Amino acid sequence: MGLNDSSPGAMRNGRGLSDQWAESVVVRPRTTERHITVHKRLVLGFALSILTLIIVTAVAVVLSVRFEECGGRDRDGMTGELGSRGSSGSGKMNGSRGERMGERGDEEAAQPWRNSRLPGSLRPRHYDLRLAVYMDNFTFSGDVSIELECVNATRFIVLHSDRSGSGRLVNRPGGGAMRIHRHFPFPANQMYVVVLHRELKPMRLYRLNITFDAAIEDELLGFFRSSYTLQREKRYLAVTQFSPIHARKAFPCFDEPIYKATFSLTLRHDPQYTSLSNMPVESSTLADEDGWVTNHFARTPRMSTYYLAWAVCNFTYKETQTDSGVTIRLYARPDAISSGAGDYALHITKRLLGFYQDYFKVQYSLPKLDLLAVPKHPYAAMENWGLSVFVEQKILLDAEVSSSSYQMELTMVVVHEICHQWFGDLVTPVWWEDVWLKEGFAHFFEYVGTDFLFPKWNMEKQRFLTDVLHEVMLLDGLSSSHPISQEVQQATDIDRVFDWIAYKKGAALIRMLANVMGQPLFQKGLNDYLLSHMYSNAARDDLWNKLSQAMRSEGRDINIGEMMDRWTLQMGYPIITISKNQSEQVPTHYITVTQEHFLYGEEVRNNNSLQWQVPLTVALGNASTVCSESLIWVNNKTETHRIGEMDDNTWLLGNINQTGYFRVNYDLQNWKLLIQQLHNNPQIISVGNRAGLIDDAFNLARAGYLPQGVSLQLIGYLPEETSFLPWHAASRALYQLDKLLDRTDEYSLFSDYVLKQVASRYHQIGWPTNGPSNEGSNVLQASYQTEELQRELIMLACSFGNKQCHRQAVVYISDWISSNKNRIPPNIRDIVYCTGVSLMDEDVWEFIWMKFHSSTAVSEKKILLEALTCSDNTFLLNRLLNLSLTSDLVPEQDVIDVIIHVGRNPQGRNLAWKYFRDKWDVLNARYGEALFMNSKLIGGVTEFLNTEKELSELKEFIQSSGVGAGPALPRALEIVEGNVRWHRLHRRQFYQWLRKPPALG
Ligand SMILES: [Zn+2]
Repeated sequence: MGLNDSSPGAMRNGRGLSDQWAESVVVRPRTTERHITVHKRLVLGFALSILTLIIVTAVAVVLSVRFEECGGRDRDGMTGELGSRGSSGSGKMNGSRGERMGERGDEEAAQPWRNSRLPGSLRPRHYDLRLAVYMDNFTFSGDVSIELECVNATRFIVLHSDRSGSGRLVNRPGGGAMRIHRHFPFPANQMYVVVLHRELKPMRLYRLNITFDAAIEDELLGFFRSSYTLQREKRYLAVTQFSPIHARKAFPCFDEPIYKATFSLTLRHDPQYTSLSNMPVESSTLADEDGWVTNHFARTPRMSTYYLAWAVCNFTYKETQTDSGVTIRLYARPDAISSGAGDYALHITKRLLGFYQDYFKVQYSLPKLDLLAVPKHPYAAMENWGLSVFVEQKILLDAEVSSSSYQMELTMVVVHEICHQWFGDLVTPVWWEDVWLKEGFAHFFEYVGTDFLFPKWNMEKQRFLTDVLHEVMLLDGLSSSHPISQEVQQATDIDRVFDWIAYKKGAALIRMLANVMGQPLFQKGLNDYLLSHMYSNAARDDLWNKLSQAMRSEGRDINIGEMMDRWTLQMGYPIITISKNQSEQVPTHYITVTQEHFLYGEEVRNNNSLQWQVPLTVALGNASTVCSESLIWVNNKTETHRIGEMDDNTWLLGNINQTGYFRVNYDLQNWKLLIQQLHNNPQIISVGNRAGLIDDAFNLARAGYLPQGVSLQLIGYLPEETSFLPWHAASRALYQLDKLLDRTDEYSLFSDYVLKQVASRYHQIGWPTNGPSNEGSNVLQASYQTEELQRELIMLACSFGNKQCHRQAVVYISDWISSNKNRIPPNIRDIVYCTGVSLMDEDVWEFIWMKFHSSTAVSEKKILLEALTCSDNTFLLNRLLNLSLTSDLVPEQDVIDVIIHVGRNPQGRNLAWKYFRDKWDVLNARYGEALFMNSKLIGGVTEFLNTEKELSELKEFIQSSGVGAGPALPRALEIVEGNVRWHRLHRRQFYQWLRKPPALG
């Protein structure tokens, strides 16, 4: 599943510039308060009408038994009432083996439906699901026939059902039917319970038939609807989103990932619509008595309920075929298809299927793969097997107006979802606690797969560091973080596991492991893992076993499970401190290495902190060369290791290319040597390590492990830096500081220092010359590194106040207004728009506002909207906030971004913070259930708070509103406390250094 950004660490620009990288649209819009009321009324009315319907038709749940002809299932004669109940798999259900009625009483007393998990006595093998979809009144009706295998004798059939109306049970007369004692919903656990008169017997097959009716939802869960406009006509489509626990909203089923089964789906609908599902249409009845179409889809392989998908729409498509004969189609609005906006995604999908088949050495499992571009979706995308669904912004590319950032982000979403066809669809995590097993892999492969498509982008070795590693270490260094494997019991916990820790830490740990193993063995282990668990489920230990086996096959005996448990079951990560052994004479051969749990909060650290098995790579170097590299396993708090010969001028560098998930600190003398090296000849140290040193130094300083001056002195080498990545790492760190400092009296000391580092490289690289009128496909071939560096420097220069940069932006905007032709290069439009709005008068704001309304390209619309938040005029900002929330001028999913971006603007900060608190009830009602949405909002409006007064306002707010926000509020509190602490402990030292930077040497 592709999450949109929810990270509180994603912001980069203290001046309110948008950041398409850290992005953006977190969408899971909820109905507004007003809508909810209406909606509830509808449900009520609808429920009544269902009842009427059922009384009239008297069709409902029928339970019948099909005695298996195959006697083998029953071979040992264990068919009596004293069967194998309670022997395995359903501890909750075992009772004493007393006489039959007594036992029954015990079993009933046990009430397995009160447990949040299904009892495990029954296993679904196959679902025949038939649905009739009424797009005219947004309802559907259906019946499902589930073939069940009995594992342990039981009188209870417990399965999931939520919202879909379940009818009265009627025993259908006839051979083999079992009598139903009673049946009832158990809404607390979203379950439906059927109690039988007699027990179902182990190793036999049964068939359960249920009919149901439900609404096609107006919110983005289960089977839901959305709309778009085509030639001024409103069109509707209906599509499913079942992950993680919403299949039960569309039909009664065993809705836990472990209950894999095959599915045969039949959809009946008005012929003006097309229907799609995981599998191709096997047969189609073109017109029945109503003139409707009935599509029978081929039987799926074994899969989890949350990957089942279907859609009813009137989209058109383009298609292509892979060499191995898989048909790939991209379905979208007819106008998007005809404009070619889907071509790019279709093209890369074809290449990616080939890439993954080669990498995993496992064929893609289905005969086809459809990509469906929908106008509204709760996530960036969802990897349903054979029918992956994407929100339009993450799959349609308008090459004319799209920036390379937009293209890269879209590419990565596609790479992510295609990876899931193996990690997720084919092999599924046993339970949600290990959701990172699929999300971490898909996120890691975003970088590997994008490197395959665009080798020059160098994603895995470079961009991964800033966008994944640095990003998540910021979060995971908080004491409010949590282990990557999280215990999940209640349904409400499940949404919570889809967070940055699962995605980004998962990816970072997998990358670390891949580097320890080496790519051939890593690939071998993955292949074995996929083959062993295909069409089934796996837990993390299954992966560790296969990877350990691969290592052993090459004579390398590492217990990967033991090592990785430290990283997955413990929160946080270590800080490794390396120093030359002082007790020895110079030259020495020994280093001392210590590890402790890295935490930003100085008062929460303690000596008995966690420990890890750390694969530490160390390089030794001097002015002109790197002399040696070695791998050291650090298992204890303090260790001494012998490495190469070192003298006074030898520097040590840990975590080569930042493949490890930890930070490294050194003694001050070594920091000095490294900084000298960077100033004199930065190329000796790899690009990845240059970025890593910057990120480590700033975060160590922020947490008080290192004097403030070290990080500032380190970036003094930036005028020598020609690569994008270290600049990117630096700008991330500087925007973090900017948030802390931009309301302090001495702010100009800081901004002047930043501008001094930026100036020469900025002037040298200049502004892009190609306008949007040039060939749009440039974006595909352009050297992305150069473009991104240019963009980064322009953003730094403009946001920290470079006069020339400001003038250039104003010239561009004036030209646009006077000529009504937008000649601003797409890659820097967000920077130019924002700078223009903040510097120029209200007319520019009105002009951008007008353009926002008239623009149709989704990416352009978004940056125009964000530019509006850059104004210095609080009246305009206030107007924008109010319009966003109360009118439908701003798309529902963008409202949160408007509030956050107003908060990024120092002039809007108080306004956004106050607005957020005033409107909390409305916002929480609208976005509350979508935890990651809420947490993005909470993180976004609070991260700038850094005074004692603001801290107490936050505490007050938490007390008065507190509930329902998951981990976001405690995290926000910890971050703001950290901000306040930094001011108290370190600000003086920071500014002192800036007033008098000591000479290097
Ligand atoms: Zn995913």
